[in-house]
Amino acid sequence: MSIPVSLIRCGSYDPEAVWSAVRASLEPMGGMGAFVKQGQRVLLKPNLLIGKPPEVAVTTHPEIVRAVAMEVQEAGGKVFLGDSPALGSITSILSKTGIDKVVEDLEIGVVPFRNPVTVPVPGGTVFKSIEISDEPRKFDVLINLPKLKTHTLMLLTLAVKNLFGSVVGVSKAGWHFRAKNDSRFADLLLDISRVVKPDLNILDGVLAMEGNGPGSGDPRWTHLIVASPSAMALDQVTASVLGVGPDMFMMLARAREQGIEGSLPEHITTFGLSIKEAAVRNFRLPVTAKKADFSLPPFIKGRIRQSLSAYPVLNTERCITCGACADICPVNAIVLHDGGGGDVDRSVCISCFCCQEICPERAIDPVEGRMLRVMKKLGVA
Ligand code: SF4
Ligand code: SF4
Repeated sequence: MSIPVSLIRCGSYDPEAVWSAVRASLEPMGGMGAFVKQGQRVLLKPNLLIGKPPEVAVTTHPEIVRAVAMEVQEAGGKVFLGDSPALGSITSILSKTGIDKVVEDLEIGVVPFRNPVTVPVPGGTVFKSIEISDEPRKFDVLINLPKLKTHTLMLLTLAVKNLFGSVVGVSKAGWHFRAKNDSRFADLLLDISRVVKPDLNILDGVLAMEGNGPGSGDPRWTHLIVASPSAMALDQVTASVLGVGPDMFMMLARAREQGIEGSLPEHITTFGLSIKEAAVRNFRLPVTAKKADFSLPPFIKGRIRQSLSAYPVLNTERCITCGACADICPVNAIVLHDGGGGDVDRSVCISCFCCQEICPERAIDPVEGRMLRVMKKLGVA
């Protein structure tokens, strides 16, 4: 059966406009009532990467959370909200993002993802079991609320990537280390999506992030809300809207190789806008963007590998020496300087960009290695 994906225009975060767009996105699927029944406990999983105000587009906007929560309550559900930020408490992040006001207004229960459990991954390609938070599994309905952003390692972070939030706190960096490279990390994300399966996904693509996301990119109005019961179908359609195909988007390429439902255009039916009508022109991708088939084989080592990779550089001017990057680095590659900034030991750095992702000051820039720059110029990477 064809998977529905709604593409709805939303001009601003005016509460009425967002509520009407969210409602319109669910209409072709039978409305929120098709997903939530009277008395059910419903968990919303927004993107709560770090505590930043909504206008910098790092986290899911409070008005998206409000509109979805209101729809759930109207359908008779009891609303909860949870995530496991890599650094900082969920309470402080909710307050900095403005979501705390929505939580208070609508009496939403807050559920920090704390308890890791090891679960088997049926059909897992790389990992036969993974350690994820127990909390999302305790609810009747899971609604995924990702933000449309670029991602230095994965190119884009949409619905499937947002499920990585179910890995508890700092152990996220450990999984980067275990995955080692971007293709295996894409496989890990797909394995997580085999275990954590949202009933509904609603993407906040009203104010998106382009450039060097997910924490240090630039806000860009794309005026879209995308909804689907399938995280993969939502990602595939959104990537097409941005003009990104599987030749660049590793996760989509790996999903197609694995025959995952929703990863091909023939698996889906779009409602609302067509992909052409929704198309976002000249969406700026991270400087690390490269072809999906450009994973380096293990025999390429040392300086050649470094030269073919992108790596992080700390900006002395912007760095406030908070230490978050050094704390999260899974291979202890960062040595901070007293006066700000620091050095990255490229001989051990695995280019996971966890450091850049959580830097609160946009003080870490991804830089391409010399050979990678040359190959890009020649059009072979
Ligand atoms: S680079 Fe960013 S995360 Fe690292 S110490 Fe400086 S401000 Fe903190
Ligand atoms: S320095 Fe940054 S990119 Fe390199 S391994 Fe550490 S966290 Fe990952």
